[in-house]
Amino acid sequence: MLVVMQEGATEAQIEHVIARLVELGFDVHRSTGVIHTVLGGVGGNDFDPSLFEVMDGVKEAHRIVSPYKLASRNFKPGGTVVKIREVEIGGNRVVMMAGPCSIENHDQIQRCAEIVAASGAQVIRGGAFKPRSSPYSFQGMGEEGLKILREAADAHGLLVVSEVMDQTQIPLMLGYCDILQVGARNMQNFNLLKELGKVRKPILLKRGIAATIEELLLSAEYILAGGNYEVILCERGIRSFETATRNTFDVSAIPVVKKLSHLPMVGDPSHGTGRRDMVPAMARAAIAAGADGILMEVHPDPDRAMSDGAQTLDEPQFRELMTQLRGIATAVGRSV
Ligand code: PEP
Ligand code: MN
Repeated sequence: MLVVMQEGATEAQIEHVIARLVELGFDVHRSTGVIHTVLGGVGGNDFDPSLFEVMDGVKEAHRIVSPYKLASRNFKPGGTVVKIREVEIGGNRVVMMAGPCSIENHDQIQRCAEIVAASGAQVIRGGAFKPRSSPYSFQGMGEEGLKILREAADAHGLLVVSEVMDQTQIPLMLGYCDILQVGARNMQNFNLLKELGKVRKPILLKRGIAATIEELLLSAEYILAGGNYEVILCERGIRSFETATRNTFDVSAIPVVKKLSHLPMVGDPSHGTGRRDMVPAMARAAIAAGADGILMEVHPDPDRAMSDGAQTLDEPQFRELMTQLRGIATAVGRSV
């Protein structure tokens, strides 16, 4: 904890801050510079720096240690590899997770599984419970959809990732999925995160629509603190003032997270852009930036998809992209 006093802060103000730091259990080191007095607090309890920033005579206050512990890179400097059967997420190979936004019917998922497996991807995605902005939009097939997805995945040697929307769905989802996805809208559903901490299956945690990287890592901390160490983070675009794309795909979040945390990080260029014609460029960028995987939407007939068709690639587009991604991965010392 570091508190920088304002120029001309009085001795009484400085003493007041020191007293408060001591109360919070900090060992205080005072350094008097030409202009500013800086108070360094070592040890002590975690607290909100803004509580100090509003005190008289204080210019700024900062945490020295990160507010998340288990998610921090220091906790596991070598990085985490999430291993599911032979698939390693966080290893050298960039893992491809692809499939439709929503599970729609048996034939659609069978075709998707064929496309995904034939391209060399390892994981099929598809939502059975859909978090739609409008209550009148298609809400997903539920358990019937999960059955279809699991069958198609097993027939093609693929793993399954699908979104869990609330804690009551967890037992059902565990029966069908290899990875449980927490959607952007649920990144700060702390009750759900706590329950997922008790689960012993990997969780793919998407960044919230307006979440900072620190908030993403604190949400991961909830799951880790519950004892589930298999968390995969996902950049899926954030809301900004820009309207040319559905979201602003924050490519820089990938190297930032890789530096701050030991957890694997994947990129979702589909939700990240909302536009099929922009998806390949952002998928390439994500791998170049160090992503451990790509999660993206693919459908045999995207124009007729029941959700997110505009950001979904068809088979030829996906095949072409996979070829490009192999080249990008090689250029950065990895494989796809
Ligand atoms: C999805 O993956 O289909 C989805 C709803 O994603 P997000 O939570 O990122 O919007
Ligand atoms: Mn979608």
